[in-house]
Amino acid sequence: MGFYKKEFLELRSLCEKKDICLVAVSKVRTEQDIMAAYQEGQLDFGENYVQELIAKSDALPKNIRWHFIGHLQTNKVKLIAPFVHLVHGVDNLKLLIELNKYAFKLNKKINCLLQVHIAREETKFGFSEDEIAEIDIKSFPGLNICGLMGMASFSDETNVVKNEFRQLNTLFKSMQKSNPAFQMLSMGMSGDYQIAIEEGSTMIRVGSLIFGERG
Ligand SMILES: *Cc1c(COP(=O)(O)O)cnc(C)c1O
Repeated sequence: MGFYKKEFLELRSLCEKKDICLVAVSKVRTEQDIMAAYQEGQLDFGENYVQELIAKSDALPKNIRWHFIGHLQTNKVKLIAPFVHLVHGVDNLKLLIELNKYAFKLNKKINCLLQVHIAREETKFGFSEDEIAEIDIKSFPGLNICGLMGMASFSDETNVVKNEFRQLNTLFKSMQKSNPAFQMLSMGMSGDYQIAIEEGSTMIRVGSLIFGERG
């Protein structure tokens, strides 16, 4: 673990060239490692665990934009709603309703992405395409639902991963027609971000490439 400055700078320059948002995934990383990236100008960080996110957001600079990329439990919404920049993994209706409720309580819009299940693994979260079609985005006026997020199968078969990302981008493009707020397609991690970018990602979530393998 640590901070891999050379890899980080290369990745960031690629993202700048292609107008892609780079989210540095900092789950289980120390505050020092996060600060090393921050000092290079990185402001978008992604976390998976609510308690860890709260501790870090208390301790670290206030201009950091915290992305919640994990599976969010409904009863934890109130803990992160006041400060979270973008919730990537909204994967059920109950969560949408709860986020919308807290948006009104806090008198702010909460940015979120709908997570779509594109992988072969059953263990991964997300709406199916049919379920997404049922969601009436306009019935959540407290939310700024600004796009989709997905995780591809954990696989060495490039074609499998490529097809899953392509399928997600196709859905994204078709939903964009009726939802002009759809601007973000969050797909791609350390192992598959190149494929994701080829397939139209606008936001990648990268951890191990920047901070080393997780222990
Ligand atoms: C951990 C995680 C990442 C980053 O994974 P790396 O392989 O370390 O880049 C991205 N997205 C989600 C949802 C994650 O949980």
